[in-house]
Amino acid sequence: MMDYVEVQKRTSIVEACRWMLAQGLSHGTSGNISIRNGDRLLITPSGVPCDRMSPEEIVEMEFNGNWHGALRPSSEWRFHIDILNSRKDVNAVVHCHPVYATSLAICGREIPAIHYMIAAAGGENVRCAKYATFGTQKLSDNVLAAIQGRNCCLLANHGMIATGVNLERALWLAAELENLAQQYVISLSIGHPLTLSGEEIEKNIELFKHYGPKEISEK
Ligand code: 13P
Ligand code: ZN
Repeated sequence: MMDYVEVQKRTSIVEACRWMLAQGLSHGTSGNISIRNGDRLLITPSGVPCDRMSPEEIVEMEFNGNWHGALRPSSEWRFHIDILNSRKDVNAVVHCHPVYATSLAICGREIPAIHYMIAAAGGENVRCAKYATFGTQKLSDNVLAAIQGRNCCLLANHGMIATGVNLERALWLAAELENLAQQYVISLSIGHPLTLSGEEIEKNIELFKHYGPKEISEK
């Protein structure tokens, strides 16, 4: 029997898929989402359009690759498992193919420190993982190398991955990354984008730790 908390988690994944679709971050059956669920993970099924996906169709997986459910897990379960396994600070992984991030990835370009918001990525750039066929262990290996010390990366000739301490943060970062990619593409078309120093980005990463509304007691 599925408990109330698990139903809520499954529902949050379906809602997140629909949000990505509405935001233009994904389309058709592209993209997938996973969240940590105790010593297992919950992941979107393979090839099911978000608008037709139901919470019961979300697939439960063990970290050894075994899965439980009526439908097959996302073909990208390898990089979802490898990220969640290697990063204990990450509880949610979002993958999608939005236009600007994917266009840069098609050119094999990383995103440099063109805006202080790059600090959200956790460092002075967003790397682009080397190309490998979708769903392969090779792609997952390339992703782990590119996402090291970062919260997100691009995937050559494919798309992007964003992670977070929870699903809300991973979705937020996916949207921010696409925004950065759009700013970079447009500034490249105007001329030569100026970049900020690594030192300045480190300063912004520190500032981000205290950014946002605070209760008076937290000040
Ligand atoms: P799935 O439908 O198997 O999750 O695949 C979509 C995708 O984006 C593959 O990279
Ligand atoms: Zn994909």
